[in-house]
Amino acid sequence: MGGVISRLAVPGIADLPAYQPGRDIDEVRQELGLERVFKLASNENPLGPSPRIRDFLAAAPDLARYPDSAGHALRRDLADFHGVDPAQITLGNGSNEVLELVARCVVTSAHEVMYSDPAFVVYRLATCAVGAAPVVVPARNYGHDLDAMAAAAGERTRLLFIDNPGNPTGAWIDGKRLHSFLEAMPEDLVVVVDEAYHEYAAALQDDYASALELLPHYPNLVVTRTFSKAYGLAGLRVGYALSHPELADLMNRVRQPFNVNALAQGAARIALEDQAHLRRCVALNTQGMGVVTAALRELDLPWIKSSANFVSFEVPRPAAEVYQELLQQGVIVRPIAEYGFPRHLRATIGLAEENAAFIDALRRALA
Ligand SMILES: *Cc1c(COP(=O)(O)O)cnc(C)c1O
Repeated sequence: MGGVISRLAVPGIADLPAYQPGRDIDEVRQELGLERVFKLASNENPLGPSPRIRDFLAAAPDLARYPDSAGHALRRDLADFHGVDPAQITLGNGSNEVLELVARCVVTSAHEVMYSDPAFVVYRLATCAVGAAPVVVPARNYGHDLDAMAAAAGERTRLLFIDNPGNPTGAWIDGKRLHSFLEAMPEDLVVVVDEAYHEYAAALQDDYASALELLPHYPNLVVTRTFSKAYGLAGLRVGYALSHPELADLMNRVRQPFNVNALAQGAARIALEDQAHLRRCVALNTQGMGVVTAALRELDLPWIKSSANFVSFEVPRPAAEVYQELLQQGVIVRPIAEYGFPRHLRATIGLAEENAAFIDALRRALA
């Protein structure tokens, strides 16, 4: 720290903490000498991707060749699926990349970028990486305080990130409310609605609505989606933005020419096609959410009502301690103190046996 190279860091990056991923299964298994370890820390899909993808990966497309730079086939499939023009779709190496691309296209160090506290940590990374000033608006009832956000938007505010559903709370925004908010935003403020958990939310909550249907009305709106969660492809890294073609054109200029690899493009097409598998994954989550929240109720642990594939709950002791006790029992969950919740833990909804192992371990940890 404080060496010659550290002092070369551009403003915004110097004090930035690195992203903290969930602990790795093999690492925990070895470290603690455990036979079985369940990872419910990173909101991954316990069923994995469509089984049809196996054959495609085994046959490995010609890996000596560069992938299709424009991702034509996948973008065409996505355009058909969403009823938009392929020119409105920007592919990314995970939706994380797309979030960064938007910031790089429209934000300079003269601008502000707004997001909620808590919100997905990547918004802060994307903001600081372009040297912009973050405007962080405290949440209300664990969700976005849209009134406060509208009031805090000023002349310099160029970009606004909204995670809907939100991470790490799972809170969601009422569809009508989101519409009136966008209506009130100035044209030169780009609003990104990050819908990484859309498929789960649509099944869990009647009053959740995607921002996608608003896209034709707002050229400053960007909706991001991912194959990492309900489609089960977190390891391959593919996500995308839906936006006005002019914004997609800007993002296309700054992205790396081959940002989405050939395996990811091919696998994502198969995943999109296998909607029956997606429905199974979503149904499993809806059911598991019922099981896990019923157990939390029984254990008398308050939880934040979630529209995603995870639930954050409060424990009566410092969460770091309970986290360690769960780890010792082979269950990895996610402490969310870095998001401002030192007494909460976040657990991903897993397979029935994973949920049961988590609930058992929790019961023992709190006994
Ligand atoms: C998991 C998650 C994503 C997905 O990121 P990818 O890069 O697509 O894997 C995006 N936004 C939020 C809020 C998330 O929790």
